Amino acid sequence: MNRYWVMRVRRRRVMIVTAVAAAAVVLAAVILLVSVFSNGGQGTVTPLRSPTDQVAGIPLYESLLPTDSGCRPGTLRQIKYVVIHETGNPAAGADAAAHSEYLQGGGDGTTSWHYTLDDHCIYQHIPDNEVAWHAGDRLEQDGGNLNGIGVELCVNADGNFEQTMQNGAQLTAYLLRQYGLGVENVRQHYDFSGKNCPQTIREAGRWQEFLQLVRSAMAA
Ligand SMILES: [Zn+2]
Repeated sequence: MNRYWVMRVRRRRVMIVTAVAAAAVVLAAVILLVSVFSNGGQGTVTPLRSPTDQVAGIPLYESLLPTDSGCRPGTLRQIKYVVIHETGNPAAGADAAAHSEYLQGGGDGTTSWHYTLDDHCIYQHIPDNEVAWHAGDRLEQDGGNLNGIGVELCVNADGNFEQTMQNGAQLTAYLLRQYGLGVENVRQHYDFSGKNCPQTIREAGRWQEFLQLVRSAMAA
């Protein structure tokens, strides 16, 4: 090989090394972007609270839905609200355990929420920092599904709704405290989609009373 060829081979090697390095930089950038937007580009993800088996003495049972459930999209998000609902099911026996069983059985395939509680216990269905389908507002920016923890209060005829309201206030206060939120971050399902929910609280004009229970629970 004469000198000319040696130069050409060296130049080609330099070009190949440069191309490989450039490809590596592009790949690293793509991986970084994918990891930043893997939560759907929805901003910061709120880190989860530590696990607990009770809230203010009310037993909390974790019965998380499988990650391949259509009701659990697995989208991580920032927590901005606690969204209050009522199950709308007045049947005797339609308590928190029954709703947990219903969701574990697949529910209606599309609706989901984070907690159901009754007059004596709380069931959790989806981790706090994952999207669930309860607010009827799709994935609207700053919406109830995207940023809310959905809490369902049972209205079963054989339950004590006054106690359920108290327990709901305790769980709400606990979640607000865990995630550095205040009473101003408590919402009704109604606020996001206009649905008449939580129905009995709304129709009895007891929303302010519920918020007062939350404030007292937070102060305790
Ligand atoms: Zn609702």
